[in-house]
Amino acid sequence: MSERRGELIVLSGPSGAGKSTVIAELLSARRDIHFSVSFTTRQPRTGEADGVNYNFVSREEFERMIANHELLEYAEYVGNYYGTSLKVIRDKLDQGVDVLLDIEVQGAAKVKERCPEAVLIFLIPPSIEELSRRLHRRNTDPEETIQRRLEKAREECRESVHYDYLVVNDAVVTAAGEILSILEAERCRTPKRLHLTQGIVGTT
Ligand code: 5GP
Repeated sequence: MSERRGELIVLSGPSGAGKSTVIAELLSARRDIHFSVSFTTRQPRTGEADGVNYNFVSREEFERMIANHELLEYAEYVGNYYGTSLKVIRDKLDQGVDVLLDIEVQGAAKVKERCPEAVLIFLIPPSIEELSRRLHRRNTDPEETIQRRLEKAREECRESVHYDYLVVNDAVVTAAGEILSILEAERCRTPKRLHLTQGIVGTT
């Protein structure tokens, strides 16, 4: 077990807000962050690899994981299950490694309930029109799914009030830069640094 416990960082935002791109930028700047690969019952999209983007599993397998309490959180989103492995996260945090979760709003609320010290960051697109453009440009989902995702995006953005930080993804580098600043500030929080004062003020 490491002296410093890792930071649990949750990033949410509507589909098309650019989370994956921002995460890639973040991870290239902070190679010490562990990105949690979620489990999902959704079909892989073109270019997605099992164990890299997601662990793709059947509904039966996912329900077995729920029954065995193997998930830190899970949610059903647009007809599919998504969830985070409890063991992987716990091990990494105990080793002092910061862990980044890319999860939707219901899952984020459950994480905050179970781990109140988690840092919740919400990423929004600059506008709903830009979000629609991005979802169409991605060309991976049928029109009906895109419309459901846009409606879902509106609902999700209402939940952003429950997050600690809000970041607008207009330019990826700027958004990733803001998140890096947030993480830097979180590391400086007094409760996490009180031990540094011991040599100065003594331990009465
Ligand atoms: P997508 O199908 O576009 O990859 O993801 C759909 C939504 O599921 C995204 O908002 C993403 O953040 C969320 N998601 C991905 N993994 C998890 C997870 O493990 N738990 C929860 N609750 N949501 C997840």
